[in-house]
Amino acid sequence: MDSNISRERIEEAKQKLGDAQADMIADLLKMEKYNPQRRIGCCPNPAHKDDTPSCSYNPRAHNFYCFGCSQTYDLIDAYMATGLTFLQAVDKLFEAADIPHNFSYRGRPSDRDYKYPKPEWAETKEHVYAYWQKRCISPATIDALGIMEDKRGNTCFPYYDDSDVLRCVKVRPSRAIRKGVDKQKCWWMPGDTMHLLFNQNRINVSQPLIICCGEGDCAAIYEAGCQNVVSIPMGDGSTQWVTENWEWLEGFETFVLVHDNDEPGRKWKAEITRRLGEYRCKVVDLPETWTDDQGEQHHLKDANEALFWGGKQMLADAIRNAKEQRIESVEDCSDVTGFNMEQVDGATTGIAPLDALISKAYVGTVNIVTGVAGSGKSSFLSTIINQSIEQGFNTWVFSGELANPLLKNWVTTVCAGQGNLLCEQKNGHTAYFIKPEAAKQMNDYYRGRLYFYKDTELPQVDRLLASIEASVKRFDCRTIVLDNLMCIDLEATDDNKWNRQDAAIRSLVELARRLDVAMWIVIHPRKLNGEVKMLQLGDLSGVASSANLAHRVFSLYRVQDSDRVPGRNGKLPPYAAADVVLSVIKNRFGDTGHPIPLLYDPASRRFYSSPDDLEFRYAWDRHGTTDNLQYFNRDKYERLVSGESEPF
Ligand SMILES: [Zn+2]
Repeated sequence: MDSNISRERIEEAKQKLGDAQADMIADLLKMEKYNPQRRIGCCPNPAHKDDTPSCSYNPRAHNFYCFGCSQTYDLIDAYMATGLTFLQAVDKLFEAADIPHNFSYRGRPSDRDYKYPKPEWAETKEHVYAYWQKRCISPATIDALGIMEDKRGNTCFPYYDDSDVLRCVKVRPSRAIRKGVDKQKCWWMPGDTMHLLFNQNRINVSQPLIICCGEGDCAAIYEAGCQNVVSIPMGDGSTQWVTENWEWLEGFETFVLVHDNDEPGRKWKAEITRRLGEYRCKVVDLPETWTDDQGEQHHLKDANEALFWGGKQMLADAIRNAKEQRIESVEDCSDVTGFNMEQVDGATTGIAPLDALISKAYVGTVNIVTGVAGSGKSSFLSTIINQSIEQGFNTWVFSGELANPLLKNWVTTVCAGQGNLLCEQKNGHTAYFIKPEAAKQMNDYYRGRLYFYKDTELPQVDRLLASIEASVKRFDCRTIVLDNLMCIDLEATDDNKWNRQDAAIRSLVELARRLDVAMWIVIHPRKLNGEVKMLQLGDLSGVASSANLAHRVFSLYRVQDSDRVPGRNGKLPPYAAADVVLSVIKNRFGDTGHPIPLLYDPASRRFYSSPDDLEFRYAWDRHGTTDNLQYFNRDKYERLVSGESEPF
């Protein structure tokens, strides 16, 4: 659009004219019972039968406002009501307000490469008037929209650009389209076509723009008194007009969309709302049916049928009652379901000081475990697996590190406890074995509760995700363990591996939330160049999204011999007597607390912070009488609690 026709310049012109506009508008609109002292008159809207003046001048907005039908009329609307285009109306306004302007380009084709149509109109519009009158469109509306008749009696819809230059003409027979007989419903006159909107050059850009899906509907809506209306050029399957008229569309504060009452129409509504902006779109949902005075029901397919059966008033009301669209991406806080962490399901870890800190591993969340090799990750995960099953959470495990028999050995050893182990001295070192009877009982206990991803299956990310989903649905698995992320084949190259890893983490987080499972993922720390230390978030390997998206991150640190010699102050580090230190380094649901010193029992491969942890009997062994403290190293435990190593 001409940059001289900005909102600001129009406003400036109205300011200059001031209250004198009231009489000008009333005069142009032929406002009945107009009172120049009170600046009030009857509403000129044909769809509003206003006998007592209810249209009143608002000196601040420089327009009339109707208290009956909420229409507004400014000087531009008033000029356009006399048959002028928007550009002509602005010309008049600027002239009246003495604002310098030059619209001499109006109506002059300027694009040398464009083939403009050369229509030949009939002498009269008798066929057009007659046919459209049957569809309740009056000759006045036909003329106001510039609808023409060609020499064969067809109806012609001229499309003008915003310089009032005729760009293309759509033609259709002036009779009902016969299905199967007429080859096409409509066609374009020879020449180039543009994705303009019909009636685009008679639109007041400071009023809400009504957009509908065909020229017939456009005429029907105009007939109902809503004159700031356009229709789309190519049917509701094409949205090219949004792109091509974007600059013009950008200027509107409000759109009112009138869609057809069918599936394509509803899809169009959704698509256009998104393209034009949910915040400024209102939608007219026409009633599906209309019951006439004889009690007969009629399906209302579009705006023209609504006018035909329901009348002007009904169509005007439907448009006035256009509804604001929900912004799909947000919800009102009051509608959000209440949330109490205590009510969220989840399994405790069985490590008392850790449970005191984190309560449980909640379903719907992702927990990351990190630590260098030998820091106790297998022991920790075996505890998580056994405790989950103990608390009724069936479990699915992928181990890229251990073959499944070895994985089973880890899990069952932790589950067995010292009392169900046999000790043997072999070649100078001590080895522990599960008693055969206990192994058999545990096997029965695990059946239907614990599932391993087959180590013969490819560890591709999509297959793993599918396996998890199937196992959650079929076997009700609610704890998912992945050891470890680097063992998952992301089908990545060097160029895209970080994107792939990021995408994999996002998929796992989404899966945990959607399936309502507690997920545990092992991620190795990045290479530390031989340095052994307590890990922080920044030490996780790979992309930052793993730490950002996870709900909790746990790190394991194996206490080194170098930690057991006094420092420069002559004191031992507080965790010197521990075997392993477990830290919560991220906790989205609360504190990270202090690092937790733990002891490691090489027999049962359990972590413990008190003899109770070693004595703990899982369900299959609940009434067992064997001594679960038979290999208990009491000296080591006492050193831990003696104060040499207080929690720190
Ligand atoms: Zn009114």
